[in-house]
Amino acid sequence: MTIPSDHNIATPVSIKKRGDTALEITWGDGHVSTYPARYLRQHCPCASCIDEWTGEKRLAPDSVPVDLKMLSVELVGQYALNFTWSDGHGTGIYSFQTLRRLCPCDQCRGASMTERSDEPA
Ligand SMILES: [Zn+2]
Ligand SMILES: [Zn+2]
Repeated sequence: MTIPSDHNIATPVSIKKRGDTALEITWGDGHVSTYPARYLRQHCPCASCIDEWTGEKRLAPDSVPVDLKMLSVELVGQYALNFTWSDGHGTGIYSFQTLRRLCPCDQCRGASMTERSDEPA
C-alpha cells in the first residue's frame, strides 16, 4: 500500500466539464470529485466574494442563480482553474488545493471537519 503524497492529492489527472452545470476532476490519488457549477460559484475565492483580510464570505450563497451555468473552464498556469459563469462573474482563481478541499463528496466533507485546524490561513 502506498500513501499518496500531498502533491498527488492536489494534482488532477483529468478535468472534464459535465455539460455546463458540473465539473468532474479525477485526482492523482484516484479520487473523483464532481462539483455542481452553482456550488463552485458559491465558493468563489476572489476578492469580491471573500474578504481578503478576514476570510469572511461576502457573497450571499442564495444570490447565485439556481440555473447558473459554467460557460468555460481554463487552466491558470499549472496550478489552478478559472471559470466563466453565466452570471457574468469570472475573477475567481481556484487553485487545485482549494478545489480538492472543496470536494463535496461525503468522504471529503467528513474529513474536512477534522482537518480544519491545519488549513492555510
Ligand atoms: Zn468571486
Ligand atoms: Zn471527495
